[in-house]
Amino acid sequence: MNNKNKENELAQNENFWRKCSVCKKKILFNQIYQVCSVSTCKKNVYCSYPCFEVHLPIMNHKSAWAEEERAPSKENYRVSKSEDEYISEHENEREYKNKNEDYENDILIVASKLKQYVKAKSGLNTSADVMEKLSDIVRELCNDAITRAKEDGRKTLMDRDF
Ligand SMILES: [Zn+2]
Ligand SMILES: [Zn+2]
Repeated sequence: MNNKNKENELAQNENFWRKCSVCKKKILFNQIYQVCSVSTCKKNVYCSYPCFEVHLPIMNHKSAWAEEERAPSKENYRVSKSEDEYISEHENEREYKNKNEDYENDILIVASKLKQYVKAKSGLNTSADVMEKLSDIVRELCNDAITRAKEDGRKTLMDRDF
């Protein structure tokens, strides 16, 4: 049962490793391919030596040779790929969390503008605590609005979310 599911899953995915950077022919898993000896060029893969040769004059290589490599097996490729994805997902999470914590206590109100407004409206002075309290209120309103925007599947917070 488990094995069968796994087979189906594999069959649904692409059946080749990468495409040749020149002729776009598929390079299959476990297949021998050519890679350029120039280190900045290593992201390109070539299905054959003639394809490797094509890029030499284009890239202006003075001395470069082809290195023969073998494409990973499908199983290995899938494992390493999902590990990378896992790591990058969690890095984003951590970054986001750090940022989130910084903003949790920030003052979101322009103090001078608010003080001016209160003064003009009423002649009252405004204590500094008011900025903190209003920032908390704004944060709460934003959090509710964010929830609504997300429920809507949007990537932009809009006036109608409030
Ligand atoms: Zn090719
Ligand atoms: Zn090259």
